[in-house]
Amino acid sequence: MKKAERLTLLNSCRRLVIKIGTQVATTADNRVDTSTLESIVQQVAELIKTGQRQVILVTSGAVAAGMQVLGWKKRPTSLNYLQAAASVGQSRLMRVYERSFRDLGLNVGQVLLTRDIFRVATRRANARQTLKTLLEFGVVPIINENDSVAVEELKFGDNDTLAALVTELLSADLLLILTGVRGLYDHDPRSGRAHFISEVTEFNEKILALTGANSASRKGLGGIASKLQAAQHVTRRGAVCIIAHGKRPSVIRSVMAGKPVGTFFFPAPDSGSS
Ligand code: GLU
Repeated sequence: MKKAERLTLLNSCRRLVIKIGTQVATTADNRVDTSTLESIVQQVAELIKTGQRQVILVTSGAVAAGMQVLGWKKRPTSLNYLQAAASVGQSRLMRVYERSFRDLGLNVGQVLLTRDIFRVATRRANARQTLKTLLEFGVVPIINENDSVAVEELKFGDNDTLAALVTELLSADLLLILTGVRGLYDHDPRSGRAHFISEVTEFNEKILALTGANSASRKGLGGIASKLQAAQHVTRRGAVCIIAHGKRPSVIRSVMAGKPVGTFFFPAPDSGSS
């Protein structure tokens, strides 16, 4: 499709969910990547200050940041260790977001969610109301899974799923997944014969089969499979989804300007999106 069509769609997006992956929010040695987050916050603030757009952030990185604070080199496997790391790391992460947004005159609100909230109608409605109220007051909601208490039956599994459910919950127009890879490839990018897929207009067998070809590094939880599922979930409901490299300078500005950055997933034709 033409750049103009992408741009028309993007210009009509009023409510945006931006998911920030662990590989974006933290450095190779698991420190919170303050300069990347400050740059993302700056770009988000620009969008909000146009008065035309609302932005909700879904952030990962709590477990990794907590490991660094606690001096753990290897990601633990036992639940209580992971939960302790998440607890420590979440506040470290929020400190960076809070300060960066405050410097630009914006307030943030932390919202930690678990799977069960989306399964029970009253709890869903309540979460939606809280998020909408934050947006009404110009506050930027910063969402993560409530990792320090969630157990198997309460877990989303990964933040790609959480971000897709939040996009649906708030009827957002766009889900932007910022991750440690450029987007979707037709073969394993390390194979030397991979071509980049810059847009997906339809979720056919060929696209769904690509999960094996795109084994992203697994510092966070979601690989490309969960990102494709998230993209399918939101495009079926009429939203745009874009997967892009979160450490690319000005990535959000470029994406919103309709530049060919990342993989662009068009809303499903029968989803009712104009
Ligand atoms: N909620 C986890 C964290 O903040 C990450 C989940 C994921 O990587 O998808 O560390």
